[in-house]
Amino acid sequence: MTDQVRVRFAPSPTGYLHLGSARAALFNWLAARHMGGSFLLRIEDTDLDRSKPELIEVIYQGLTWLGLDWDEEPVLQSSRNAEHQIAVDALLESGAAYWSSPIAEGDRAQFANKAYDPADRDRQLGPCEGRAVRFRVPESGTTSWNDLIRGEISVEHANIEDFVIRRANGSPTFFLANASDDAFMGITHVIRGEDLINVTPKYLLLREAMQTPGALPKFAHMPLIVNEQRKKLSKRRDDVSLMDYKDRGFLPEAMVNYLSTLGWGPTDGQEVRLDPLSLTDGFPTMFDIAQVSSSPAFFDTKKLLFVNGEHLRALTLEEFADRSAPFIATAPWFDRFESDPENAQRLLQILPEVQTRVETLSEVPGYVDFLFLEDPEIDEAAWNKAMGPDAAVWLSACIDGIAEWEWSSPLLYESFMALAEQMGANRRKFQAPVRVAITGRSVGPPLFESMQILGRVEVLRRLQATLDRVQLTA
Ligand code: GLU
Repeated sequence: MTDQVRVRFAPSPTGYLHLGSARAALFNWLAARHMGGSFLLRIEDTDLDRSKPELIEVIYQGLTWLGLDWDEEPVLQSSRNAEHQIAVDALLESGAAYWSSPIAEGDRAQFANKAYDPADRDRQLGPCEGRAVRFRVPESGTTSWNDLIRGEISVEHANIEDFVIRRANGSPTFFLANASDDAFMGITHVIRGEDLINVTPKYLLLREAMQTPGALPKFAHMPLIVNEQRKKLSKRRDDVSLMDYKDRGFLPEAMVNYLSTLGWGPTDGQEVRLDPLSLTDGFPTMFDIAQVSSSPAFFDTKKLLFVNGEHLRALTLEEFADRSAPFIATAPWFDRFESDPENAQRLLQILPEVQTRVETLSEVPGYVDFLFLEDPEIDEAAWNKAMGPDAAVWLSACIDGIAEWEWSSPLLYESFMALAEQMGANRRKFQAPVRVAITGRSVGPPLFESMQILGRVEVLRRLQATLDRVQLTA
């Protein structure tokens, strides 16, 4: 074994990639790239219901989307069952583990609330239905390690119970499989969530007893990720699935940028680094696992939106169009969009105005739909607000003007404002009925650019239809 750094991301397949797992993958990836080592994958799929290929595929997809490439073939924990059994047998053989019988729930009080009878340690029991194998934790002393993030951590053996390493049904437990596989994979740094701190003393005891070759790994336990209420992110309360963020129009580079700040920050003191960080350039050089903080990291969805917006604005127009394409393709009006070859050009004309305004790609269709729908979708609240007592007079004056005005957005703007003045109307209020007539909403891309792209004939048709409705309901 060389002293080459080897880290691993070891998720259990759950059918989605949790944000906390995505952050664990990212920090492991960064640590590996920073130290010039290898980033390995191990799928902890010993729960056989979770060993399904489609559940494992979700993990690969998430990592691929984030741009986190892994080295070597992923190790499937379930494929190492025979080795796990051998490891348990060796621990039984050396006396580091023993067979133990379960005790009935009602009898636990007699055994200091333990699920087993400590006297089994000396009973020299053999295998028998219902019996599990437990690790014999030394009665005195401590297990310690120097955590790269938290410093010295020490746990007294008196506080660790004899834990199960092989269940009564014959399956190895997480403790055993996890420690055994890290030894097999030659892992040098275990970088994982702080929820696993209490597992680490057991891991170290096992590794020592297993006498696995190679040095014991270094540990770095990353801080918890919490929500606004300072509670641990949970599936029930929070949107924790990485790929939901993809579907909601977040860019992978923005996710990487934001996830990287959950516990870590560049030493130049910026809390969130907003200039897009490239995974291939400076980022791994800057990242140092030892600089990660031990305090809980707040998952701030507002900040994430802001970071995503910044990344969207940093794209070239062509990239922005490419990234928007899947969202356009799933819009209800996509068939209509495709039916006119000029629509692609119209979209490209409006996109620069959209790029400066949205925070996620999923907002894009709502900003451009008025161009591709037969009639704009009217937001009734916006309509009611815009169609004041002067709406009919104003709309009809606009129709007369627009039929004549030169068709370019700056000139449309000038003519429009001159007309507002002439009619003694407030400029903003004067625009409102026209905006709702054309786009259906009160917010959106700039009005005169929108009009220019939509074309005179269609603008006039929509204004007339609006005027008719206003007069009908007056
Ligand atoms: N499979 C464990 C989990 O998903 C991680 C184990 C580890 O990183 O050591 O929580």
